[in-house]
Amino acid sequence: MKSWVGTATAGDGMLEAALKRCVDAAEKSGGQVLFETKGVQLVTDADGAVIGAIGERPQGYVKVNTSKGVIIATGGFGSNEEMREDLLYEIKQTMGANDAMANMMDRDGSGIQMGYWAGGRLDPCMGTMDGAYWYPCDSPTDPLGATAALWINADGYRYSNEGFGSTEIMALPGARQPDGMIVTVFDSNVEELLEVQAFGHMGFDTTLGYDALHETMDKAYAGGPNGSADGEEAAETEAGANKAMGAGAVVYAADDYETLGGYLGYEGEALENFVASIERYNELCEQGSDEDFGKDPSLMIPVNKPPYYAYGGTKAVGVLMVTVGGLLIDQNGAVLGEDYRPIKGLYAAGNASGGRFGWQYFTSIAGQSLTIAHTLGKLTGEYVATS
Ligand SMILES: Cc1cc2nc3c(=O)[nH]c(=O)nc-3n(C[C@H](O)[C@H](O)[C@H](O)COP(=O)(O)OP(=O)(O)OC[C@H]3O[C@@H](n4cnc5c(N)ncnc54)[C@H](O)[C@@H]3O)c2cc1C
Repeated sequence: MKSWVGTATAGDGMLEAALKRCVDAAEKSGGQVLFETKGVQLVTDADGAVIGAIGERPQGYVKVNTSKGVIIATGGFGSNEEMREDLLYEIKQTMGANDAMANMMDRDGSGIQMGYWAGGRLDPCMGTMDGAYWYPCDSPTDPLGATAALWINADGYRYSNEGFGSTEIMALPGARQPDGMIVTVFDSNVEELLEVQAFGHMGFDTTLGYDALHETMDKAYAGGPNGSADGEEAAETEAGANKAMGAGAVVYAADDYETLGGYLGYEGEALENFVASIERYNELCEQGSDEDFGKDPSLMIPVNKPPYYAYGGTKAVGVLMVTVGGLLIDQNGAVLGEDYRPIKGLYAAGNASGGRFGWQYFTSIAGQSLTIAHTLGKLTGEYVATS
């Protein structure tokens, strides 16, 4: 799969600034923005066309009539437990005994509910950003991010083509591994490994240079069994233990595979498998063809230049950021009814709209979710305004 450089990231007041510009533009054109008003129900006529919406405000209800239409742009439903349980089949079926479904960041799905009650069809693929896939350690702040290095599961086995598809597809096999840790293994030749990676979500940002990474690697080597962890953190960190999302993983380093595996917490047969998996990987790199999993030869960089490095995270499935399935729409953003024809006067954009992804949220470009929200919002707004 091809990938592209993406730049839309949530941060530094960008979203607030964009929102303010929208409000200013609306008011300049004679529009009115009702703050502290939650949409609770759509108003339909006898033919099922949407002709208005009812909002709830601190001072009571307000009804807004529409001459052109209602655009639902209310985000996803990740924080609505009932909807999560009912609709997030992909995550539920992926979770293991130690996993729990959780979300505190997404919306409550009230907009999607309004569209559904007005006859809108739900996307049959109710994917989520995060929650049903796992790669070590599932955070952009990890030393190598989503780099397709050598990945090894809790039993010491390599388990997938680490470089197949976009980041999320690469990470799907990780969610199906035995409970416990999954680790990324690399060596001192890390720059060559990073330079052959595809651009993508959670990728290592080579434009920042390698100094910080080498600093962590040096610290890991000096730290021996404590790896790159500091003082108190080192005392509290079990070997190879997971960290909170965004905290970055502890890196371990050693001059031989067995010592490295021991630092990570592998023992007995799992430790033997760990060593054998690295040796087998090197063999496949040497012969230039991955007979085991079919990884692209350009990504087959051996782990043979000591010291060797690794970090791991305990597999955790079920924690999602936002949902990306919603009301099915057509090319104009119009919500489709049971017969897959547009419902008059009803539109949806952003995470309230569906049909944008298949299984899960997978991207060939970082920042795809924000860019979809912006682009669909603009195009749908223009269509409704001129229709
Ligand atoms: C921690 C985190 C990090 C992320 N990082 C990135 C990133 O780097 N790049 C990227 O592309 N995406 C990222 N995403 C995803 C991205 O933020 C969302 O997919 C995107 O914001 C969706 O835009 P939206 O306008 O559809 O919905 P939202 O941004 O969710 O906005 C919906 C709005 O509707 C309001 N609303 C909800 N219900 C109602 C109602 N009934 N009546 C009235 N108003 C209502 C809400 O208050 C909210 O203001 C991240 C998400 C999270 C949680």
